[in-house]
Amino acid sequence: MSFVMSLLWILTYIAPATWQLSVVILSPLAGALASATFIVSFVLYMMSKGPMLYWTGIISYFMMYAAVGVVIITTGHTESPFIMLWMLLTIFAGLFGSLGFMFICVVDAAYLTYILSEQPTGTVNLTSLLFIFVIPLIMSIIVWRRQGLTETKSDKAYNDLAKELSQVANKSEIVINAIADGVIAINGEGTIQLINPAAQSIMGWGKQDAMGLDYRSVFRLTDSQDKQVLDETDPVQQVLLNNTSITRNDLNLITTAGKKMFISLLVSPVGQQGSGAIVVFRDITSDVAENRQKAEFVSTASHEMRTPVAAIEGYLGLALNPQTATIDDKARMYLIKAHESAQHLGQLFQDLLDVSKAEDGRLSSNPNSIDVTSFARDVTSSLLSKAVSKQITLVFAPDANNPANQTITPAYYVNADPNHYREVLSNLIENGIKYTKASGTVTVDISGDESHVIVSIIDNGIGIPTEDIQHLFQKFYRVDNTDTREIGGTGLGLYLCRRLVEAMDGRIWVESVYGKGSMFFVELPRMNNDLALEKIQVAQQSAQNITTAQEQQS
Ligand code: ADP
Repeated sequence: MSFVMSLLWILTYIAPATWQLSVVILSPLAGALASATFIVSFVLYMMSKGPMLYWTGIISYFMMYAAVGVVIITTGHTESPFIMLWMLLTIFAGLFGSLGFMFICVVDAAYLTYILSEQPTGTVNLTSLLFIFVIPLIMSIIVWRRQGLTETKSDKAYNDLAKELSQVANKSEIVINAIADGVIAINGEGTIQLINPAAQSIMGWGKQDAMGLDYRSVFRLTDSQDKQVLDETDPVQQVLLNNTSITRNDLNLITTAGKKMFISLLVSPVGQQGSGAIVVFRDITSDVAENRQKAEFVSTASHEMRTPVAAIEGYLGLALNPQTATIDDKARMYLIKAHESAQHLGQLFQDLLDVSKAEDGRLSSNPNSIDVTSFARDVTSSLLSKAVSKQITLVFAPDANNPANQTITPAYYVNADPNHYREVLSNLIENGIKYTKASGTVTVDISGDESHVIVSIIDNGIGIPTEDIQHLFQKFYRVDNTDTREIGGTGLGLYLCRRLVEAMDGRIWVESVYGKGSMFFVELPRMNNDLALEKIQVAQQSAQNITTAQEQQS
């Protein structure tokens, strides 16, 4: 507006007389004010940013108002052809909020007072005054108030959100920086986006140096045989590919300076597949060394103690045997108790030895194709005498459901170490017998699908309280109540079962109702029947070859 007015003013000096600009001629004061407004507005606008823009606008607005005011006063007041400019400008007052309204009200009121006092009463057209001064003001209030309201609401929401986000970002940064574990965030290409102080000190990299680098140039991961992990086994690559978290406790981290540490690693995906990952790791080198020393101690101690305990057990057995010793009834009673305790102690050392082997990785595994039905049948029948002596009915469900011995159970094969599998199944069946009162039943059943085989051991014994179930597979955990207090045990059997089943890539779990009975399940990956039969045949063939060779030698 100020630009157009300035042009008009200049035109009054340079335009030819034929243009007849007399109607829109601006006074020198109005023209100068309009030009000044244009220059000041332009300069201020170019210089100011953010909240400064408001003040730039308000200064330009006031100057413009002054220029238009002068034009109107000098071109016939309310009769001026520029009165529309005044009205238009008034509508924009609301743009500057209450300050704009106040300014217009004061100026309008002063100008109205001036007009009313100058002109004789009766000559003033009140309707046109109303139209010129009041209507634009009301329009301004309506238009800008509404606009202002919506703007304030959305602005507020925007500001609140921005504030909240920055607070969350600050908090997250504080937390991430305070974590003693190393935290590294990488994007889909494997470039480091964030590295916390713990990771910086573990790796010996500064934040600025590591940011933006590929994670593989900052650290390397090797397996327990010190072989560098390949892309197919690299947990970070796996997470980027499959978008599921991975936890590994068997990897070494090698820094660029060559420092090697055993780490516990958790890699979690961020966002969509391949968008990025968060790597959290902890140096567990000293924990592992400590655990290894502990396991070695337990293993050596139990090994050494098992021998004298076996001797005590043997001699007590001899003392209790009427054919090798003569003792009175009282002594027999004492010796029976001593014999039971020696057996318990022997079992404890055996369990401790097995557990320490399972824990420090000394447990060797020789997987073979196993026909689960016949294997479980053998294990069950080997425990039949134990069940009978406690008046427990031990049922092998595939045979019991099939008295005519037809093949109705599908053939299930697994690829597992037979010794470990036997240990697990017999442990669970023995527990079933142990924790079921006389005249109860323990049932062994087999089921499966395309990819899994499940052996279930079901008893109608004492059951397990719900609160104990989650701890049952922990080391040394025993349910402590009146039902179990009389029954001896070490609390290591189920822990060992879990370790063995996990080593066979399987799963073990329990469902139980206290006072009614328990169901233990052992699930292993199912092996393809053809492949299993082929492997069994090869094994039989090589066994036969060895026998023939031995016979020929002798
Ligand atoms: P242990 O039998 O030597 O005490 P386990 O690890 O085999 O140790 O079992 C841990 C605990 O789980 C037992 O002490 C017992 O309380 C409970 N438990 C195991 N099997 C059964 C079962 N079939 N029925 C009821 N309780 C059981």
